[in-house]
Amino acid sequence: MENKVRIQDDLYEAVNAEWLETIEIPSDRPSTGAFSILDQEVEKTMMADFEALAAGEKTTDIREVNEAVKLYRKVLDTERRNREGVAPVMPLLHEIAGIDRKEVLNEKAEYLLRNEASLPFICGVETDMMDTSKNSLIIAGPQQILPDTTYYGTESGTQMMEIYKDMAAQALKFTDLTEQQQKQFIEDTVAFDALLAQKVKSQVEWSEYVNCYNPMSVDEVAESLQPFDFKALLHKICGEEIPQIIIAYDPKATKEASFYFNEENLPLYVHWSYVTTLLSKTSMLSEELYAIGTIYRRALMGIEENPSLQKQAYQKASNCFSEPVGLYYGRTYFGEEAKKDVIDMVKKIIEAYKDRMRKNTFLQPETKEKAIAKLSAINIKMGYPDKVRDLYSRMTVNEEDSYYDAMSKIFEVMLEDEIAKLRRPVDRNTWLMPGHMVNACYDPNRNDITFPAAILQKPFYSINQSVSENLGGIGAVIAHEISHAFDNNGAHFDEKGNLFNWWKEEDEQAFKALTADMVKQWDGLPFCGDKVNGELVVSECIADNGGMAVTIQIMHDTKDADFKAYFTNWARVWSNKAKKEYMLLLLKNDVHAPAKLRANIPVRNFPEWYEAFGVTDKDEMYIAPEKRIVIW
Ligand SMILES: [Zn+2]
Repeated sequence: MENKVRIQDDLYEAVNAEWLETIEIPSDRPSTGAFSILDQEVEKTMMADFEALAAGEKTTDIREVNEAVKLYRKVLDTERRNREGVAPVMPLLHEIAGIDRKEVLNEKAEYLLRNEASLPFICGVETDMMDTSKNSLIIAGPQQILPDTTYYGTESGTQMMEIYKDMAAQALKFTDLTEQQQKQFIEDTVAFDALLAQKVKSQVEWSEYVNCYNPMSVDEVAESLQPFDFKALLHKICGEEIPQIIIAYDPKATKEASFYFNEENLPLYVHWSYVTTLLSKTSMLSEELYAIGTIYRRALMGIEENPSLQKQAYQKASNCFSEPVGLYYGRTYFGEEAKKDVIDMVKKIIEAYKDRMRKNTFLQPETKEKAIAKLSAINIKMGYPDKVRDLYSRMTVNEEDSYYDAMSKIFEVMLEDEIAKLRRPVDRNTWLMPGHMVNACYDPNRNDITFPAAILQKPFYSINQSVSENLGGIGAVIAHEISHAFDNNGAHFDEKGNLFNWWKEEDEQAFKALTADMVKQWDGLPFCGDKVNGELVVSECIADNGGMAVTIQIMHDTKDADFKAYFTNWARVWSNKAKKEYMLLLLKNDVHAPAKLRANIPVRNFPEWYEAFGVTDKDEMYIAPEKRIVIW
């Protein structure tokens, strides 16, 4: 007992010490914790069901789940996968290798796109931020090899690149390239990637979501990509009518893209495309190639070994058929009683939020009114959607197809659906997360919040937990998601989700000053031998802060409120043990601050924390009142 950490000095350690000491990180994961443990349980349950469905011991009337089970079997068919080896991807690689001039690239562009080969730009169809009733074509630069642009030229970046090169070398041995070519292809891949890294956004730049909105005319985009014939490709994919405005999410990467195709760089592009395309497909090939293809990712995250074959099969099938699998999970394992109870909690939190907005001291009445209207308009998605998108009805897995071919056909259906989205209005009933996912989210473009069935469990939520515990768990998560409507990104969108400035100028300035204070509260906090980047995590910190403020207010109106139980469960949901590599990776790239700090930093802003545990200026978990920040 003597050595025990005092809660007043470290809430997170005091609550989780025993757990931290005994828990082991699963060998096929980079971390474990409240979120991950629930996820592992869901996975175990669902894997048993997939096993039973595959063996015919169980049945389901959800057609698409039966297709998912067929795909599951294909992953398990290692006899066929190993026999075919690299062969399924070779025709595509030959096409890529055959690109020797820009004219050939333009001839093959459609084929490359339809077969998911690496192009030096990526396109997608997303809700248009300015008019969220319609979808728009978006364009951005491709993924660079290192996790972020800031790794280039650093020691750790160089080490990571060596691992990547080693992985690529192992994979290329399976192809028909000569040894000399293999070396050249890898060298060129690294050289091309270095060019990309100079043009694409960093993670901090990506974290400013509204800066993604850069409309360009199709002619402007086409001009930027010359000699790549972008318009011809669009016509081949979309037909006669092509989008006239394209949203450049990463404008520098688009505006300077012609550089990739000049005479000097075209061969680099071709070799980069060959290598990255092969590596992106290894998971659908033999077991040996699958294992090679995971080397780099595992090294980045510190994962010891790959998941079992059965897990791989379940993960692949449930990712491809995520909505139907979520529907199955929800129907089979989710209780309506919990759903009703949590929806009531959400409504209560929204009302309390409105109340806080009315009493807010830095907003003028006009802005308050708009904020309250936004709160009233929030759509709640709880548990799982009662139907899946049409797209899944077209996803069929043929018994005779190889795993690789089955995946190619699934991609074709998904691509056609993306293209068709351009011609139809935004479907506001789409859920961003399936029912079996242990997570929650706010969508600024739809002004809605999603709580999949899988997260509505202990320690987040249980009918058997006290109200105070539930408020410290799922309550704070719900209020966190609602707060995203008013974080430094979400605040730019109105109640319909449109990018529209509804703020009075002075109010916006006041909010910006508070945001800067929040950056300061977090920036430079030591963690794992490195430091938190305040700018990267500020949106999530504002959401945690707002989530805590509003749930604490509800606590005050709750009979038998127990603040000790509230803060203790808050710390419990952030329990986390991770590999050092993974912690460092997230610290540099994740908009969420490390779990331990999310448990310990926000609470210090609230007097209730000091009262609940008698925390004084002698304790580590104390900060002076003038340093405390409450935004919402
Ligand atoms: Zn969040």
